Amino acid sequence: MAESLKGKVVLITGASSGFGMDAAWLFAREGCKVVLAARRIERLQALAAGIQKEGGEAFAVPVDVADRQEIQLMVDTVLDLYGHIDILFNNAGFGRLAWHENLDAERDIETQLNVNLHGVIHVTHAVLPGMLKQRSGHIINMSSVAGWIAAPTYTIYAATKFGVRGFTDALRRECEPFGIDVSGIYPGPAKTEFGQHTGDHPMRKSVLRRYFRSMSSDEVAERVVELAKRPRRAVIMPWYYRVAIWADWHMPWLVDWITESFLTKRRNSYKDSR
Ligand code: NDP
Repeated sequence: MAESLKGKVVLITGASSGFGMDAAWLFAREGCKVVLAARRIERLQALAAGIQKEGGEAFAVPVDVADRQEIQLMVDTVLDLYGHIDILFNNAGFGRLAWHENLDAERDIETQLNVNLHGVIHVTHAVLPGMLKQRSGHIINMSSVAGWIAAPTYTIYAATKFGVRGFTDALRRECEPFGIDVSGIYPGPAKTEFGQHTGDHPMRKSVLRRYFRSMSSDEVAERVVELAKRPRRAVIMPWYYRVAIWADWHMPWLVDWITESFLTKRRNSYKDSR
């Protein structure tokens, strides 16, 4: 049976746009107290004001998830305000997609690892003790289909998202006996501001891209809220990526051949902008 989310305290990282912002609206409409976290505080405040205007409860807190002190401050602020956290949606992240040798060591490699992987780990590390004490909670980690299938030009992004998947599975097996659910969500491409940060990446121009539709941000946000109501190990969406993941696992030579033929071997026509 679906659990009612009314009155639950939900902390969302990366709530200033995309999946995080849309999930915030949906959680608020379910009667949750929504804590909105990201770096762009003015956006969060505007979102909180919008939710409050609709009769919901929302609160904005600035955080850079690459900074451990800021993470602790964020979690302390939420605990001071509400005393506990019921649901953590670890969603903040970005992708810088290019041939590996063209990635900038600081901006594209270090920062991506710090935000997408270390951020998820450290936010969870700060929230978990409270959940263990109350013997309840749900941690939802945003990974990606790139956490299952590693495509050319996705080296670091895939490393972070595979990392989130491993972290999620291990944590679930640690926490389940103590009343805490841990889930991973693995979406394919979706229309958000994500594309504004990737750089002019080669995959965008590949014929392979034509075969994969982009979801709306709402579709993903709806699945996140559904997951909060009915906790599961993993959500992979759209469904056909389950077939692609199966193929990558059982016939990696086929996926190598497809990606190499349609992308890598044509890399001269798919130069990135760096
Ligand atoms: P958006 O760019 O729209 O949202 C990204 C969010 O992450 C923003 O709110 C941004 O806020 C926040 N963020 C980025 N860096 C930091 C940081 N250092 N500290 C705190 N917050 C940060 O993209 P999406 O909504 O698409 O992305 C959300 C998640 O979904 C990401 O983890 C992404 O990897 C994943 N994903 C996206 C897919 C897609 O195709 N769109 C597919 C699969 C997974 P701010 O800049 O204000 O800090």
